[in-house]
Amino acid sequence: MTAEIISGKEVAKAIRAELAVEVAKLKEEHGVVPGLATVLVGENPASVSYVTAKNKASKELGMNSFQHTLPAETTEEDLLKLVDELNKNDDVNGILVQLPLPKHIDENKVLCAIDPDKDVDGFHPVNVGRLVIGEEIFPPCTPAGIQELIIRSNTPTSGAEVVVVGRSNIVGKPISIMMVQKKEGANATVTVCHTRTRDMAEHTKRADILIVAAGVPKAVTADMVKPGATVIDVGVNRVGEKPSKKDPNRMVALLEGDVDYEPVKEVAGKITPVPGGVGPMTITMLMRNTYRAAKLRV
Ligand code: NAP
Repeated sequence: MTAEIISGKEVAKAIRAELAVEVAKLKEEHGVVPGLATVLVGENPASVSYVTAKNKASKELGMNSFQHTLPAETTEEDLLKLVDELNKNDDVNGILVQLPLPKHIDENKVLCAIDPDKDVDGFHPVNVGRLVIGEEIFPPCTPAGIQELIIRSNTPTSGAEVVVVGRSNIVGKPISIMMVQKKEGANATVTVCHTRTRDMAEHTKRADILIVAAGVPKAVTADMVKPGATVIDVGVNRVGEKPSKKDPNRMVALLEGDVDYEPVKEVAGKITPVPGGVGPMTITMLMRNTYRAAKLRV
């Protein structure tokens, strides 16, 4: 049996269409246009492309986008001053500081300086706490995207065995907390694996839903997957280069997930591809959080 492909591209498109309607309604009924401020320090090429995509998505949904691009040598004090101004600016509903920050800036200090009610990335300790007690306002974007893919692919979660590979603060830990909550689209029995897990395959083979966020190509192979399982591959690994489809003279990154896709596709019931799986959902969830932040204010 070949697995059904869960297209993050298609699901993201559907959610963005729903959001555009909500954004227009907010404007019509309350005269409020959600505004996202992005802050980029330095010129890391991956960060530049992420921030560009986030601003483009805001505009496409009819939201305001305020782009702040600062030189790599910006001091921590100046960055904190900008965050403070954005906290006080009523046109700004969401603040996104693109990570990683240059080494001389304390990332934690900057993230904690963002007003929790504008923390659309969901990384402020107040929002992490809200997530743990099941009262989240801004779930972190990648885990929120994973959960939406699970729900919208009609994968049953109540009582399901969910195994998460990876325990990072941005993916593994939050998605494991979200899936264990006493809520729709959750109510699962969750196991979290990491590099000290004794026999990972023993756990992954039990999973009805297997979520892999290890950052290691082919960390999960076909013999580690239960037949019929739903497999969500969060990994984005640059494994080489390939000619661009649009311009064959230009080379672009060749991406691979954490799951050995082709063989696993023959065992799993449903699977997300890389690219085109979790990736497109992350920015969409950022847009949803920005809309929620604006809605909270009215
Ligand atoms: P991370 O901070 O490097 O964490 C990786 C986690 O995986 C760690 O907890 C590590 O365990 C565990 N791990 C690594 N190798 C393992 C192995 N062989 N077996 C079991 N566990 C293993 O990574 P991350 O930030 O969570 O990201 C994970 C992947 O998702 C990366 O490829 C990243 O690019 C991708 N990602 C994609 C998106 C998206 O929007 N599509 C967003 C975020 C991340 P220890 O804790 O023991 O070290």
